Amino acid sequence: MSRIAYVNGAYLPLQYAAVHIEDRGYQFADGVYEVVAIRHGRLIDLEPHLDRLWRSMAELHMAAPMDRGAMKVVYREVMRRNRVKDALLYVQVTRGVAKRDHGFPAAALPGFVVTCRRFDFGTVAARAKTGIKAVSQPDIRWGRCDIKSTSLLPNVLAKQAAKDAGGFEAVLVDADGKVTEGSSTNIWMVTKDGRLVTRSLEDNILPGITRAAVREIAEGFQMPVEDRAFSLDEAYGAAELFLTSTTSGAMPVVMLDGKKIGDGTPGPVATRLMAAYMDFMDRA
Ligand code: PMP
Repeated sequence: MSRIAYVNGAYLPLQYAAVHIEDRGYQFADGVYEVVAIRHGRLIDLEPHLDRLWRSMAELHMAAPMDRGAMKVVYREVMRRNRVKDALLYVQVTRGVAKRDHGFPAAALPGFVVTCRRFDFGTVAARAKTGIKAVSQPDIRWGRCDIKSTSLLPNVLAKQAAKDAGGFEAVLVDADGKVTEGSSTNIWMVTKDGRLVTRSLEDNILPGITRAAVREIAEGFQMPVEDRAFSLDEAYGAAELFLTSTTSGAMPVVMLDGKKIGDGTPGPVATRLMAAYMDFMDRA
């Protein structure tokens, strides 16, 4: 069965689903996106993902392609037509098709694409048993990383550099030597005295939906979370390091830049949070 995509009003097999070459998403990366997990046929944290998409569009003065209710219908129809149970839903909105000019077009219909692909959460849980290696990279992104924009070139380059160095994720570091986030994840540490720390949302990072979910879980376990920047040196010396994202849950980072974090195996806090997050997805 071929995969079905929604593209600007039509449901089409992926090989026929195409956008115009003058779409501003293609020419300027003038677009925003979301990735939503589907577990047991249910969209995980759908409302927060819609809230974030609407916020991203508003911050970029981009028109919504349809209202939230209609968008949910499209999401569910894409899921239904692809007959998925465990999958990732990809959603992209662009400023639409217009003659190439940097300024906003006077009138352009937003471009809107939804795809989904099967995803094995068992692989994520298995990966968490050993943990992952990460590699630090300078954060060369812009000042509005709170917007989930498709302009991802710095993230792409950082991730590739990490992969080339044998890592699974890049840990981005700002000009002050402080960790910002990962190339597509939020980064957390557990200090030697047991405090959970992650950078503040006020400090130019993406407000991760998984960050919020894991935070709620942690607080339910009476583990308060400190929102503050921490340095790369603090990360090296942390008891535990982990990352959060839709595709990774709460994933232990056992090595950073070739240095073992803690004893080099997944720590109890990250392991507990990952188990609870998987459970949350199971029950959603
Ligand atoms: N930071 C960045 C830069 C990301 O691209 C992502 C993934 N979209 C995240 C953090 C994690 O966000 P979420 O938990 O919503 O997947």
